[in-house]
Amino acid sequence: AIGTSTELGRIAERIRSTERPVTPLQARMARFANVVTMAVLATVVVSFALGLWRGADPADMFLVAVALAVAVIPEGLPIAFTVALALGVRRMADRNALVRSLPAVETLGSTDVIGSDKTGTLTANRMTVVEAWTSDGSIGLAPGGEARPGTSGTLYDPSNALAASLRSAVLANEADLVHVDGRVEHRGDPTETALLEVAERVGLRVEALRSAARIVAVLPFEPALQYAAVVVDEEGPVLRVKGAPERIVAGCTTIATVSGQAAIDREAVLAAAARMAERGLRVLAAAERRLPAALAGESMPEPEGLLFTGLIGMQDPPRAGVEEAIAACQRAGVRVLMITGDHVATARAIAQDLGIDGAGDGGAMTGADLEALDADGLGRAVREVSVFARVAPDQKLAIVRSLQAQGAVVAVTGDGINDAPALKAADIGIAMGASGTDVAREASDMVLTDDAFVSIAAAVEEGRVVFENVRKVVSFLLATGVATILSILGSLLAGWPLPYAPAALLWLNVVTNGLDDVALAFDPGEPDILDRPPRRRSEGIVSAMLWRRAIVIGLAMGSGSLWLFRWAHGVGLTLEQQRGAALTTLVMAMSIHTFNARSERRLLFTIDPRTNPLLLGAVVLPTLGHVFALGWAPTQSLLRIDAFPAAGWGRIALVCAAVVIISDAHKLWRRRLERARPVGADVPG
Ligand code: ADP
Ligand code: MG
Repeated sequence: AIGTSTELGRIAERIRSTERPVTPLQARMARFANVVTMAVLATVVVSFALGLWRGADPADMFLVAVALAVAVIPEGLPIAFTVALALGVRRMADRNALVRSLPAVETLGSTDVIGSDKTGTLTANRMTVVEAWTSDGSIGLAPGGEARPGTSGTLYDPSNALAASLRSAVLANEADLVHVDGRVEHRGDPTETALLEVAERVGLRVEALRSAARIVAVLPFEPALQYAAVVVDEEGPVLRVKGAPERIVAGCTTIATVSGQAAIDREAVLAAAARMAERGLRVLAAAERRLPAALAGESMPEPEGLLFTGLIGMQDPPRAGVEEAIAACQRAGVRVLMITGDHVATARAIAQDLGIDGAGDGGAMTGADLEALDADGLGRAVREVSVFARVAPDQKLAIVRSLQAQGAVVAVTGDGINDAPALKAADIGIAMGASGTDVAREASDMVLTDDAFVSIAAAVEEGRVVFENVRKVVSFLLATGVATILSILGSLLAGWPLPYAPAALLWLNVVTNGLDDVALAFDPGEPDILDRPPRRRSEGIVSAMLWRRAIVIGLAMGSGSLWLFRWAHGVGLTLEQQRGAALTTLVMAMSIHTFNARSERRLLFTIDPRTNPLLLGAVVLPTLGHVFALGWAPTQSLLRIDAFPAAGWGRIALVCAAVVIISDAHKLWRRRLERARPVGADVPG
C-alpha cells in the first residue's frame, strides 16, 4: 500500500486531523485584549466628547485623546508576556523540560491532571529479573540473593522449562550485544536487556546461542501487540514468543512440566502472574511451538497452539524523587494518573508505592474495562480512577478527550508512535527525549530530556510562575490605566483645566510603564506557589478579585493626583506647578505600586526588593529622571510642568502611603477569605 493507506500514513492522517487546542493563555489573552480595546476606545471617545461639551478646543482635545489612548493602551504587555514566557522556557530547560511551543509554557501552570506513563517516567526503567515461575513452582532469581530452585530442586538445566523460557526470551529479543573493551555489553530496551542479563546469570551462554541460532522470521515487540516473536530453525522451524501473560497464555494449549507436556490450566497460570504482579513485578510469559509443516512456510504464524514454558518477573525501582514530586503535585491540586500498558496489578502496586491518590483498593481499571463503558461511564471512570493498565493508545486518547470534555486541562506523556494522537489532543503533550520516538516528539508540546516525572512537576511549578508574572504585569498596568483615565475624566467633569498636557501623558507612560512592566516579568516564583489549587480554565488573566483591587488602587492614585492638582490651585501656584504636582503624584504612586504588584497575597514589606534587582533599577532610575525633569527648564517647557513647594511632597507621600495601605489591606482581607475557603482558586473580594 502507499500513502494514507499505509499504517504510518494512517497515523500521520490521525495526527493531522487531531486539532491542537487553543492554550488557556491564548484564550485568556484574546478575551483580555477585547476588553481592553473596548474600554480604551470608550474612554477616548467619552473624554473627547466631554472635552468638546466643556468647550475645549477640538484640536487640543484631539491631542489629549490620542495621548490618553497611548498612555492607557498596555503596549508593554506583549513584550512582558513574551519575556515571562521566554524566561519560563529557560527555567524549564534548566529543569530538564524542553518546551516546543511558547504559549504551552503557561498551560502547564494551569494543569489539573497529569496522565503519566509508568515505565521510565515514574519508575527508573532499570529492569532486573528477580523471579520466574514454571509448572515446577516459583523460582527465585534475585541477583546476589539466594537462588531459590523450584520444587523439583533444579534451578537451571538446559532441558528444563526455565531454560526453554529464557531461550525464547533471548531470541525473541531485539537488544544488542556489543563488545566494549573486551567485555560484552547489552544495548536496547531495559525489559529486553534484563532478559539477556538473567540468562547469562543462570548459565545460558547468550552470545553463543544467538550466533548459532538460524532466525527465519522476526516480529519485534510493539506495545499494541504486547508480545514479540521469532521463528528459529531448530532442526525444523520453532516459533518462540514472549510478552504480556494474558496475550501469550490465551494462545497456549499445553504447559511444559517436569515430566513432559500437559494440558494447560490457563486460570492457574494467570493467577500466578497476578500474584507476581501484585508485588509490583513486570511479568512476561514465554512460550514456544514446533511448527507443523503446514505452517512452516508462513513467514510469521499467529501465537496459537503454543506450549507455555514460564513466567519471568522483573523489578523496576521507582525513580528518585518521584514520590515527593507526586505528593507536591497532589498538594498543588493536580491529579496524577498512571496510564500504562503494563499489568493492572503491577500498575496498582507501584501506584500505591508512589502514593498516587486513589490507587488503593479497586482504584484501577484496564483498557478492556474502559472499552465496555459508554461516554458517561468513561467520564465517571476518568474522574474517579487514577490507575489505568493495559491501555492501548486509542484508549489513552479517549481518556484525554473525556477529561477535557469535563473542563480539565490535561497533560499527558507518551513515547510510542501510536501515542502521537493523544499527545496532540492533550492540552500539553509530553514526549520522552531519551527513549521516545521522533513521531511522539513531533506531536508534543514539551520534551523531557530525562524522561522523568520529576521534570513534569518542575515544569508545572515554572508554568505557574509564568502565569503569576503575567498576571502581576497585567494587574499593574490596569491600575495605572485606571488612574490616568480617572484623573482626566474627573477634571473634565469638574470643569477644571486638564491636569496633564499631551506630552506629559506620553512622559508618564515612559516613566512608569516603560520598563517596570517588563521587569515584573523577571520576578522569581513565590515560595508557596505549589500550595494552591490550579486556576480554573474559565478564570480570566486577571481574576475578578484583581480587577477590583486594580480599580480601587487606580481610583486612589487618580484622586490623589487630582487632590494635589487642586491643592496647588488652592494655594495659588501657577498652572505649570499644579500640573507638576499632579503628574509627580501619579509617577510616585505608580512607582510604589509596582512593588505592591509583586505579590497577590504577601504584604509589601515582606517582599525583598533585592530578589528582583532589575525591577528595582527599572523603578528607581526613571523616578529619579522624573524628579530631574521637574527642575530642568527644557523638560519643564516640553511637559508644561514646574517644580512645586515641599508641602506638595508631603501630600504626595501621603498618597503613596494610602496606595500601599489599601493594597496591603486588600491582601490581608483576601487571605482571610482564602483561609475560610481553602479550595477554589479565587474568592470574592
Ligand atoms: P509500559 O507502559 O509498562 O511501558 P508497554 O506498552 O511498553 O507498557 O508494554 C505492555 C506489556 O507488554 C508489558 O506489560 C509487558 O507484559 C509486555 N512487554 C513490554 N516490553 C516487552 C518486550 N520488549 N517484549 C515482549 N513483551 C513486552
Ligand atoms: Mg514501554
